[in-house]
Parts: sequence; structure tokens; C-alpha cells
Amino acid sequence: MEKIKMTTPLVEMDGDEMTRILWAMIKEKLILPFVDLKTEYYDLGLLHRNETKDQVTVDSALATKKYGVAVKCATITPNRQRMEEYPQLTEMWKSPNGTIRSILDGTVFRAPICIDAVKPVVKNWKKPITIARHAYGDVYKAVDMETTEPGTATLTFTGESGETKTITVQKVDGPAVWQGAHNKESSIRSFAKACFQYAIDTKQDLWFSTKDTIAKVYDGAFKRIFEEEYETYKAKFEELGITYFYTLIDDAVARVIRSEGGYIWACKNYDGDVMSDMVSTAFGSLAMMTSVLVAPDGTTEYEAAHGTVTRHYYKYLKGEQTSTNPMATIFAWSGALKKRGQLDGLADLVNFGEKLEEACFDTLNEGIMTRDLVGLVEPGFTATAVTSAEFLDAIAERLAKKLT
Ligand code: NAP
Ligand code: MG
Repeated sequence: MEKIKMTTPLVEMDGDEMTRILWAMIKEKLILPFVDLKTEYYDLGLLHRNETKDQVTVDSALATKKYGVAVKCATITPNRQRMEEYPQLTEMWKSPNGTIRSILDGTVFRAPICIDAVKPVVKNWKKPITIARHAYGDVYKAVDMETTEPGTATLTFTGESGETKTITVQKVDGPAVWQGAHNKESSIRSFAKACFQYAIDTKQDLWFSTKDTIAKVYDGAFKRIFEEEYETYKAKFEELGITYFYTLIDDAVARVIRSEGGYIWACKNYDGDVMSDMVSTAFGSLAMMTSVLVAPDGTTEYEAAHGTVTRHYYKYLKGEQTSTNPMATIFAWSGALKKRGQLDGLADLVNFGEKLEEACFDTLNEGIMTRDLVGLVEPGFTATAVTSAEFLDAIAERLAKKLT
């Protein structure tokens, strides 16, 4: 069989621990036998980030801007414990995802991979629900303080022109706690653009929710900016038959639970933090959650939502064959290859991505699964736990049949 050709390189960001092991296995068993793979490779493994003083992370993000599509392996974000584990680290390097996100000015969309054998906890959910979380500002960049005596707090903004604007926050009769939060118009606008663009790319309705009845100015700005940005995308939405729908956060929560899924739910930073954990848990498994970073200009980076699966890596280092679930990482590859194929007009590459995903579903539907999923299957389905290598071999076999 002749291998499928690519014209533009995919930006490949390698990572850490168990997911780095899976990464190499996925390439070897599922991609390289079928695709004449063209990538620009960046090693975001922790030690290489350290050696390059994290320049490699910045370079990989800039390459993503240049080429438009990247696929990323999970990476370690060092904390104090990691500093002890890797004594050669010269600094507690920042989260690569944070660095990449801020360079691309992107929004993260998380969606579960749904299979028949594992039913969501919410029984009417039939299709995936994608959560888009605004990842800038609000309580995450807020300042707060405590006071102990009666008094009054004010909020003052001083412009570069020297002009000031002050409002009273509250007059209190005793000890109190205070918080000052902000968001930037430019960040909200980028968020809105990425959401509308991703809804078009995936042909799904877009829901957006805030609490603008209470935070009339603050959340009102979010609502207004989304409405303004929608004007640019409206014609395309109408052409695709998809809708943009705004509602209050509490109404959205009730509707989401009663819905059958199949849309994107855009949330403010805190709502997205909380709701993405709720939705992903209700869908089943972190190992089945995909994640896509989309920039306002359409630049896209695909990855798994889970981390480097450290506990499994230590078993692997002891020589054990682990049953780590590679699904979300495979879907990062298939998503990126499909997107590359769409941008470059390569129907074969798009078809490859689709067939790869079908082969994964076929394997799971035949009851061949990693251990994490076997524990979740509904009564009436039979499932056997296999190792990651066996699982990938089973997918490769089905994929080869589909492609010939
Ligand atoms: P994790 O790697 O997501 O794993 C937490 C647990 O979830 C695992 O121990 C495992 O449970 C289960 N799990 C996750 N993915 C799985 C998979 N593919 N197959 C089977 N089980 C899976 O989170 P963590 O242990 O908190 O973090 C490890 C490292 O990942 C940290 O250094 C963190 O900085 C990094 N991280 C990176 C990203 C990213 O790059 N996007 C995201 C999150 C975390 P059992 O052990 O019970 O089997
Ligand atoms: Mg959270």
C-alpha cells in the first residue's frame, strides 16, 4: 500500500512519562505504517524544556502559529515535588499549556469520546457536550484582602491620562473580606471569536451563559461582546443551520442536564472550571476526554485532557506492561491530521483520520479495552482488559483492513 502524502508539516510536541511512551507507540503502530508523516518535532519533555530554558515551548507555539496545526503530548508542570524528583531543574518552569495558550491567545475546548458500552451518568445525554472555558481573568487573576474594623471600601481606576473613576464597594460595620477582579475586552473578544469559529468548524450549536442579571456591567460586557462578534459569523451559522444561544448560567445548567448533548457550551473562567469537571465526570472517564486549543485566527492545537499518568509510568519503569488508555492521545493525532488534511485539501489524509477513529470505536465495540474502561461498562456488554500495546495492535489491525 502506498503511504498517504502530506504537504505541510504538523507541529509535533512530544511530552513526558507514560504519555510519552504511548506517543511513540501510537506513531509506530497507527501512523507511520500508513502515512508519510511530515512533522516539525519539538521535544517538550521536562528535561529538554530545562536544557533550552523553556525556549522550546515558545518555539513550538510560534511554529504552531506559522503552520496552523499542532498535536501535543501531555507534559509535566513542575511543582515542588518534581523539583526534588528532577534535581537538575534550574527553575520551576511554567505550565507549557499556559505558555502555548497565551502565545496563541487560544480557548480550550474539551469534549468526551462517547462509546456505546459506557453510558453517561445523565441518561438522556446521547451526544458529547463540548465545554469552552474562558481562561483569563475573573477570580483567577483577582486580588483579595481581609479587614478587621468598620469602614468603607472603594474601587478606583486610574487611567494613563491621569483621569480617575471611583465607586463605593460597600460600607461595613465590622470585619470583612474583599476581592477585586477584572477582565479585558480584548480577551473576551478573542474568546468569543474562538467559540464561534469552533462551532462552525465542528458544525455544532453554541451556547453561552453568564450571570448578567446580577453582574449587569461585568457579565453584561461578556454578553454584549459575544453579540457583537456574532454579527461576523451569523451568515455562516445560518448557512450551516446551527444556532447561537445565550442564557443565564443557572438556566443553562438546568437545560444541559435535560438535553441530549451535541453542542458547545461556552463558560466564563470559573463556570468552565467547575462545569468541565462535572460534565467530564458524568461522561465517564478522564482518559476519554479530548482537548483542543483554538486561536481566534483558527490556529489549532490538539491534545488529550489528561496528564502524563505518572502512576502507570512508574509501573512501566519496573518492566510492567500497563493498561493505560491511549484513546484521547490517538484522537489528538486523528484530529490534527484531519485538520491538516482539510487545510491542505488532502482528502486521503482526512479519510485516514476518520478511519483511525472508526478503528478505535470498532475495537472498543468488540469489547477490547484498557482496564479503566472495563470497570465502567454497562451490564450486557462484555469487555476484556488488554495492555496498551495489545489495544493499539487491535486498532492497527482494524485500521489496515479499512484502508485497503
Ligand atoms: P493524570 O496524569 O491525568 O492521571 C491521574 C489518574 O487518572 C491516573 O493515575 C489514572 O488513574 C487516571 N488516568 C488518567 N489518564 C489515564 C489514561 N490515559 N489511562 C488510564 N488511566 C488514566 O493526572 P496527575 O497524575 O494528576 O498528573 C500527572 C502529571 O501530568 C503532572 O505532572 C501534571 O503536571 C501533568 N498534567 C499535564 C497535563 C497536560 O499536559 N495537558 C494535564 C494535567 C496534568 P489510576 O492511577 O487510578 O489508574
Ligand atoms: Mg478544575
